[in-house]
Amino acid sequence: MSKEFTLTILPGDGIGHEAMAEVQKVITWLEEKRGFNFTLHEDDIGGAAYDRYGMPLADETLEKCQKSDAVIMGSVGGPQWDNVDYNKRPEAGLLRLRKEMGLFANLRPAIVFDALVEASTLKPEIVKGLDILIVRELTGGVYFGQPRGIEDLGDGQRRGVNTQVYETYEIERVARVAFDLARKRNNKVTSCEKANVMESGKLWREDVAALHSKEASDVELEHMYADNCAMQLLRNPAQFDVIVTDNLFGDILSDEAAMLTGSLGMLPSASLGETGKPGLYEPVHGSAPDIAGQGKANPLATILSFAMALRYSLNCGDEATEIEKAVQAVLNGGTRTPDIMADGCNEVSTSAMGDALIQGLNQSKAIAA
Ligand code: NAD
Repeated sequence: MSKEFTLTILPGDGIGHEAMAEVQKVITWLEEKRGFNFTLHEDDIGGAAYDRYGMPLADETLEKCQKSDAVIMGSVGGPQWDNVDYNKRPEAGLLRLRKEMGLFANLRPAIVFDALVEASTLKPEIVKGLDILIVRELTGGVYFGQPRGIEDLGDGQRRGVNTQVYETYEIERVARVAFDLARKRNNKVTSCEKANVMESGKLWREDVAALHSKEASDVELEHMYADNCAMQLLRNPAQFDVIVTDNLFGDILSDEAAMLTGSLGMLPSASLGETGKPGLYEPVHGSAPDIAGQGKANPLATILSFAMALRYSLNCGDEATEIEKAVQAVLNGGTRTPDIMADGCNEVSTSAMGDALIQGLNQSKAIAA
């Protein structure tokens, strides 16, 4: 199999550069040890792009992203851009990138590594071995529905309106992603909405059920109200495999699930569009301006996001697994950046964490021949 790929690398702002430097080490390792050949286009996004191009995502950057096999991003934002116009703020660059790349499915794994089980606020017996994947619809629903706005009603009264709206094709395409992913995991999908009180939720439930009978009856499907899901995530999270839900509930449930793991510096994400189009891979955390440039950032969320790119966009699941196992080995060996430091462990810098991971990879046996 050819292992030639084009990647666009967007470190972004704050700790994005430090974390991406460690991804670069993994990229070099894959080239030297696993026969990959990457063409890399590095560019700016967010505040860095605003400073360089006058906008948080330049057209030429977007074009590079669209022509790549995958886009690997750091994170954007920082106090120095707080007073920039709303549509030129760092976050606007990210929103435009997601929109223009047609990324409708956001994948947020919540995995509890054995070595970090104590970092969760839940009891170890509840979260040990946890491995959930939340698939959130990303381009529709109440964040985009029309009409929206704030209306002046006079007499000091105003009305704020947002519209929750979904069409069948939007529900089907994200549900299809969830069923496909479940087949590669534990074969179970939980679909969440509020069908009891929202027509859009009733449609969601009916369309997911119809797609399931038509295309995915081999996968176990359960429907759950989103508020119940929020409770179940804390009560018995191990019951879940893949959760698929809309934009608003997904926003909330994925943050809740993320916190079951207790460590922001460990959480990767992927955003996918139509099959064959490039995906966007980024850590869940922000640009952490409070620690930027100090060598304190945990680069593992960005490295694990790159592993997701290998699995979902480059079809190199074996190498993704190899990286994930090396992360586990490094953590088991007690190597920790300050954010995940624990008694008896060895505190290291961002760059030393990257080096430890490469050492872990060197000790691993190739899964693929
Ligand atoms: P944040 O995620 O940047 O930081 C929250 C806390 O977690 C901070 O104390 C930070 O030091 C720590 N932290 C985050 N990532 C870490 C890592 N990898 N290693 C060690 N510690 C880590 O959230 P925030 O402080 O609310 O936001 C900072 C900036 O990031 C803001 O401008 C915000 O808009 C932006 N942001 C961007 C994204 C994104 O690019 N997708 C996401 C969230 C926030």
